[in-house]
Amino acid sequence: MKITDHINEAKKTLISFEILPPLKGKTIESIYAHLDPLMEFDPAFINVTYHRSEQVFKKKADGTFEKVEVRKRPGTVGICAAIMNHYKIDAVPHLICGGFNLQETENALIDLAFLGIDNVLLLRGDAARNESVFEPEPNGHTYAIDLLKQAVNLNNGIYLEDDIRDGYKTKFCIGVAGYPEKHFEAPNLNSDLQYLKMKVDAGADYITTQMFFDNSKYFSFVDKCRNAGIKIPIIPGLKPITTKKQLSVLPRTFHVDIPNELSKEIMKCKTDADVALVGQEWLLQQSKDLKKFGVPVLHYYTLGKPDVIAKVVKEIV
Ligand code: FAD
Repeated sequence: MKITDHINEAKKTLISFEILPPLKGKTIESIYAHLDPLMEFDPAFINVTYHRSEQVFKKKADGTFEKVEVRKRPGTVGICAAIMNHYKIDAVPHLICGGFNLQETENALIDLAFLGIDNVLLLRGDAARNESVFEPEPNGHTYAIDLLKQAVNLNNGIYLEDDIRDGYKTKFCIGVAGYPEKHFEAPNLNSDLQYLKMKVDAGADYITTQMFFDNSKYFSFVDKCRNAGIKIPIIPGLKPITTKKQLSVLPRTFHVDIPNELSKEIMKCKTDADVALVGQEWLLQQSKDLKKFGVPVLHYYTLGKPDVIAKVVKEIV
């Protein structure tokens, strides 16, 4: 079922979760162990992130180094198919521009359609570790909107080979990313919003936001989107802070602010177990406020912390 149908048919605020594929070498059982404690909350869908390969230097027996491509977290599509089969709930694979050329993208989308996966979150991806700025693949997409247009084309039965007539029209419900505190490369929020509007006009069905810790940023973002003519659902992405280290890691990695009130409380904590309690309470208050505001879905980035999320969601549903 499409995410937008879940939203349109919902009688209450929906819950959804986001997971990372496990490190290579682990089994699907590690995913089930992560998700099992969250299933009692009847999530509407589960997102699975996509992680591109990285170039690393490996030392050879003769002492020289060779450059090799390593993909530490493969399996996004397989995990989505397994989740749908195992739990009978919808899974949303993330698909990125980075590392894919047009043909590989089309093949990936065709695989999803064959597996009965009709939802997809389309993103550009970040620069690879060895790049300072995002570099598209030769014959690949530069921005998420280009990837989106390719998926919309497939929804219209338009494939890369123009001799395919009567091609199957895929049924993808397409999500894109939005940034309440703006994307870090955008010169300002207005410019970022213009590009977001372009993604919506090109066929995006809903937006999932970057995490934020100050709800007023989300409310103001929604307001600005509505004023800019963006009418589709805007799903808030939420994450608990569970360690003191995250006070600097999260702003550095995700370019988000941590409100003073929250950072002050965290600084007072003696252990990370105390930090997790503060983070849990903050997330609970955020969730309650967002629910009151009428968000369609509360989307939780579980990122290895299903226990904290479970405690929060228990109070919300
Ligand atoms: P875009 O929409 O392409 O925007 C990128 C930048 O370019 C922005 O600054 C925008 O303002 C600007 N821009 C957009 N279009 C144009 C244009 N036509 N011309 C000029 N400038 C333009 N990354 C992963 O690798 N895997 C994941 O699974 C993943 N999941 C994510 C889930 C969510 C909900 C979010 C919010 C992010 C996720 N990311 C993921 C991170 C994402 O890939 C990065 O934030 C990336 O830097 C931008 O992706 P985007 O889709 O927002 O890019």
